[in-house]
Amino acid sequence: MSTPAVDTRPTLAPLALGHYVNGKRVAGASGGRHGNVYDPALGALRAHVAFADRNETAAAIAAARAAAPAWAATPPLQRARVMFRFKALIEAHRDELARLITLEHGKVLSDAIGEVTRGLEVVEFACGIPQLLKGEFSEDVGAGIDSWSIRQPLGVCAGITPFNFPAMVPLWMIPVALACGNTFVLKPSEKDPSCPLRLAELLTEAGLPAGVFNVINGDREAVDVLLTHPDIAAVSFVGSTPIAEHIHRTAAQHGKRVQALGGAKNHMVVMPDADPERVANALLGAAYGSAGERCMAISVAVTAGNSADPLIEALRAKLATLRIGSGLEPDVEMGPLVTGEHRDKVRGYIDAGVAEGAKLVIDGRNHQVPGHERGFFIGPVLFDHVERNMRIYREEIFGPVLAIVRTGTLAEALELVNAHEFGNGTSIFTNDGRAARVFAHGVAAGMVGVNIPIPVPMAFHSFGGWKRSLFGDMHVHGPEGVRFYTRLKTVTSRWPTSGADTAEFVMPTMK
Ligand code: NAD
Repeated sequence: MSTPAVDTRPTLAPLALGHYVNGKRVAGASGGRHGNVYDPALGALRAHVAFADRNETAAAIAAARAAAPAWAATPPLQRARVMFRFKALIEAHRDELARLITLEHGKVLSDAIGEVTRGLEVVEFACGIPQLLKGEFSEDVGAGIDSWSIRQPLGVCAGITPFNFPAMVPLWMIPVALACGNTFVLKPSEKDPSCPLRLAELLTEAGLPAGVFNVINGDREAVDVLLTHPDIAAVSFVGSTPIAEHIHRTAAQHGKRVQALGGAKNHMVVMPDADPERVANALLGAAYGSAGERCMAISVAVTAGNSADPLIEALRAKLATLRIGSGLEPDVEMGPLVTGEHRDKVRGYIDAGVAEGAKLVIDGRNHQVPGHERGFFIGPVLFDHVERNMRIYREEIFGPVLAIVRTGTLAEALELVNAHEFGNGTSIFTNDGRAARVFAHGVAAGMVGVNIPIPVPMAFHSFGGWKRSLFGDMHVHGPEGVRFYTRLKTVTSRWPTSGADTAEFVMPTMK
């Protein structure tokens, strides 16, 4: 394990983070509630973030509602030009945004830059909105009658996002929603709110009119207003499954369009013909990158046939040299977990795995990073002989913990993956094209990789899971995003040439 240099950043008084409403930062109400934002590498308090109450949340919705008619009437080409400027500003501020992510989330800087880039790609997609919003036209559906379909904005949309991608997940939603002509209220995670607030400033700098995009920080109190307020037309949520289910049910009961992406337990099936070195390298990033705090992290390796032992040996050798430390240090490969509370929860799962009888091959529970003794670190953990009834198999841990489940055939592996409650991403490593095809065709998951460990779709495709990894009908960004943030209208039109039409009492058919 590495020994990064002692972190010498000065300890400052905690920042005070508020909201972003009507084109500017606003402080939280005096005497209002707040949450703590930590620097996880130091285990130190970095900021207090205001928690919006009902009135503050309603004020952000009112700002978005007031801005909605003019923004919807702005031609898509002009909305796209704002996106082009936003793209240039994200590129110019890429390192600053990534640093904000690392400071509050803990992931390593290179990974944070990757996150900003994946978000940027959705902005690039939204730059093509005039093309994406083109409708369909049918000439002469009847004599002298034309018909066309157009997609129009919904109004005010809300987004509620998780801590693990404070730039990318908001950017799954914001560019597409705004480019389609909607206004927006974002409620980002209270654990790392600085990056979303900075994105709001960059949107204003890009020329977005005041009120079109707003950020409300907070917790359930603010979210409940977004889910029930009559002026919110649609809700996009990304987070854990119990909250996703609550969001979907509540928002739908209040008549809103809703997409709610939930948790995951992503399986990688390792066939006996796959090269153990290649699989171990893939698993290193997929299971332990971002300390496992990714909804597309691989947390289960399903080893078919005799593939387990060589894979475990390859993983053991590679994990022994994994560099763990502050994400701001060069060459560090894995940072801390987001909070001390979350680190303790992950440790609790490891204890449970041991108690349930899984074989703990590598134990990272007491990993220390010199100079960062108060940081929220945990070392990589590898379990072998994990069984399907164990909690460490059934539940999402969201930490650097990989479970090996030994199985026999591809059919057995497929049955295991498909029986799990989650179905976000999955992958197969094999040299056998037929096995890959059988897997890709038959697996019950929204995103599938063949010799790709984390098959996150590009911005011009759409992202989403199956089963209890997504509540609602539509995936995010890409073509599904455009459909989600617009509603269809079909116009049928005739221009009479002369004389009055006669009354018709039968169901109209086109003649
Ligand atoms: P979380 O569910 O705790 O929080 C997500 C959002 O919901 C936050 O903004 C939070 O403030 C809010 N929230 C929390 N409790 C709430 C409540 N009771 N009522 C209303 N709102 C509430 O998730 P998290 O810990 O921030 O993020 C990690 C989770 O997100 C993991 O389960 C991960 O798999 C999931 N995730 C899924 C995807 C995906 O695409 N499916 C992507 C990223 C993260």
